[in-house]
Amino acid sequence: MMPDRSAPVSGAPTPPGDISDLSARIRATRAEVARLHGDLVRYGLVVWTAGNISGRVPGADLFVIKPSGVGYDELAPENMVLCDLDGNVVGGSEGSEYSPSSDTAAHAYVYRNMPGVGGVVHTHSTYATAWAARGEPVPCVITGMADEFGGEIPVGPFAVIGDDTIGRGVVATLSGHRSRAVLMKNHGVFTIGTDARDAVKAAVMCEDAARTVHIARQGGEVAPIAPDVVSQLHDRYQNVYGQRNSGDSEGAAS
Ligand SMILES: [Zn+2]
Repeated sequence: MMPDRSAPVSGAPTPPGDISDLSARIRATRAEVARLHGDLVRYGLVVWTAGNISGRVPGADLFVIKPSGVGYDELAPENMVLCDLDGNVVGGSEGSEYSPSSDTAAHAYVYRNMPGVGGVVHTHSTYATAWAARGEPVPCVITGMADEFGGEIPVGPFAVIGDDTIGRGVVATLSGHRSRAVLMKNHGVFTIGTDARDAVKAAVMCEDAARTVHIARQGGEVAPIAPDVVSQLHDRYQNVYGQRNSGDSEGAAS
C-alpha cells in the first residue's frame, strides 16, 4: 500500500508521522509538477503533448512525472504519475492508471546518478533544438548565459528513446559541467535543477540564449567573453544576485 493518499479524515487514528509527512510531500510534488507544465506552454517551449517535467519527492526515492500523451490542458495533480528511481510506476498510487512519459527512463537515470538533482525538464524548444540538430553548442557570448550556465550550453550524444541511453548521455554531459542544460544531438533539450522549478527556469533560459545567439549570428561574427570573466559573472549570479532565500533570481543580473 503506497502512502500516496489524502489526509486522514477527522476522527481517524493519526498515522505514523513520517507516513503522513511523505503523503504530504508527494501531494505537494504532484501539485508543483502539474502547475509547472503551464510554464512550458506559457514560454512557448512545447507543442501538442511534447515535453515533460518531473520532480523528485524530497527525502524519498520517488519522483513525479507527466503522464504520456495527455494534453497540457488536462494535466492536474491527480494524473501526475508517481515512479520509483528505476522508473517503475508505483502500483496503486494516484495516477497509476496512466502510462508515465515516454522519457521516464531518462529522468529516472538522472535521479539515480545525480543525487543533488531534484527536477528534470525535457523540451524540443525551437531554437535550442535547432542548435541540437546541427550538433553545435551554444557559445557563451552574452552575460546572461555566463550568469545562468557558466559557459557554453553543451551538446550531448545522439541517443534513441526507450532505454537508459538518453539518461546516460545527459548525466555524462552535465556531470562536472556548470551548465544545467544539455542539447541532446538531433533531439532536444534536457535540463536539471535543484527542484522542478529550477529545471524549468533552466529550460526557459536555454531557449532564450539559443534564440538570441542564433539571431546575433545572422548579423555576423559573435564576440566571445573571456573565460575568467564568464567565471566571475557565474559566481556572482549564483552566490550573490537576487533575494536571499527567495529561490528567485529573475532576468539579467544587472
Ligand atoms: Zn524528446
